Amino acid sequence: MELKLYNTLTRQKELFEPLNPAKVKLYTCGPTVYNYAHIGNLRTYVFEDLLRRILEFNGYQVNHVMNITDVGHLTSDADEGEDKMLKGAKREKKTVWEIAEFYTQAFLEDMDRLNMLKPHIKPKATDHIETMINQIKQLEENGSTYTAGGNVYFDTSKLDDYGKLAQLDKQELQAGARIEVDKNKKNPHDFVLWFTKSKFLEQEMQWDSPWGQGYPGWHIECSAMAQKYLGEQMDIHCGGIDHISVHHTNELAQAEGSTNIKPWVKFWMHGNFLVLKNKEKMAKSGENFLTLQGLSDKCYDPLDYRYFCLQSHYRKELRFDWEGMNAAKTGLRRLREKVCALNTTEKTPVSAIPQSHVDKFEAAINDDLNLPEALAETWGLIDDPNISDANKLATIKEFDKVLGLKLNEKTDFCIPESIQSLIIDRNNARKEKDWGKSDKLRDQIQEAGFIVKDGTCGTEVQPK
Ligand code: AMP
Ligand code: ZN
Repeated sequence: MELKLYNTLTRQKELFEPLNPAKVKLYTCGPTVYNYAHIGNLRTYVFEDLLRRILEFNGYQVNHVMNITDVGHLTSDADEGEDKMLKGAKREKKTVWEIAEFYTQAFLEDMDRLNMLKPHIKPKATDHIETMINQIKQLEENGSTYTAGGNVYFDTSKLDDYGKLAQLDKQELQAGARIEVDKNKKNPHDFVLWFTKSKFLEQEMQWDSPWGQGYPGWHIECSAMAQKYLGEQMDIHCGGIDHISVHHTNELAQAEGSTNIKPWVKFWMHGNFLVLKNKEKMAKSGENFLTLQGLSDKCYDPLDYRYFCLQSHYRKELRFDWEGMNAAKTGLRRLREKVCALNTTEKTPVSAIPQSHVDKFEAAINDDLNLPEALAETWGLIDDPNISDANKLATIKEFDKVLGLKLNEKTDFCIPESIQSLIIDRNNARKEKDWGKSDKLRDQIQEAGFIVKDGTCGTEVQPK
């Protein structure tokens, strides 16, 4: 079946054909590890995980690279603002290296808890300074750089098509007044490739370079590391929509400016934002952001959040609220209950595979990752009375390779309904501090053959 993906570069859905069918090259911009990822960041990573799973579902092998930014990213995404790593270090009175290590691990744990596939390569920016220096040297040889005030800049006027990804037209490029202009820049959109005259004197991370001791600008890490691990061209490059106008525009300029090979990337794909009430964007630098752990503390399973994300198309803004989270939690629980209730011992001939459901599911995911439709189709399958339990289960397992909801794993949701209702009664009794009733209900559940565990999120039971 054809796979169509929306390409930000052309602003349309296009048929996906890989550069080399043997292996699809995928690069996704990774986290800046100065704080926990918030659930908005995680929405973008869930979208990228779904993309990877869908490519694999279509039979492609994927080489997935995701960088870890541990140097050079300023709070503005351009060359202004505070150094994010330094900000984290000051906040926690640790070294930037300790901060980077801690939040990298925290991020990888979040990926696990959301059942995301691990990238095949996770290069850290600080391990690739030489690769970046080499790319800056190539740009210098091609005449795309200049040095001013001690820093090395990319000269955007040297590329005819600078800004093509963001569709910045020339007029807008001239209207630099809207950007906070660094006096050293020849053109408003020029950006730093290498800082030597650091405005952050306490910057711990500094390296020798042909232009003096200093550290790289943020954008160079992605173009340099992507080319190191994926070669001069790649199939798909992803990130959140905020990356279109600055970070990805500048990565593209560096990559194509250094090799003169176009296009560097065939498909650019961007996930829309998770927003709060009043359309406010969730941001790490803001005070109020929610983490995955924050959701767990409120007794949501990380996969409840994955289900929440799956209910909305990745190119649409998604509004976060607790009603939505509760609905997602209930939806996932019901779906699991139904999967658990399937009779797995029943045998049915293979010919009875529910092809129409499979076709609809595939059509949905291959239509630019239409997960809301694919999820609806999963429900359609489970509720279809004309399909045997064995075939439902086999098909759900296939669908779950994309959904990643661990639908076929035996969990406490396989507990019979009669016991589920005793658990609910017991949770209510505990809320009302009716300890006598709660003890009686515990005995009843235990007598029925289950172990009872009381946690902060209520009673959990397991078969003995
Ligand atoms: P950062 O760690 O700040 O570099 O961001 C990591 C990823 O999250 C990037 O791809 C961003 O585009 C994306 N992102 C940032 N804020 C949001 C948000 N509110 N909703 C969805 N994605 C976001
Ligand atoms: Zn990047």
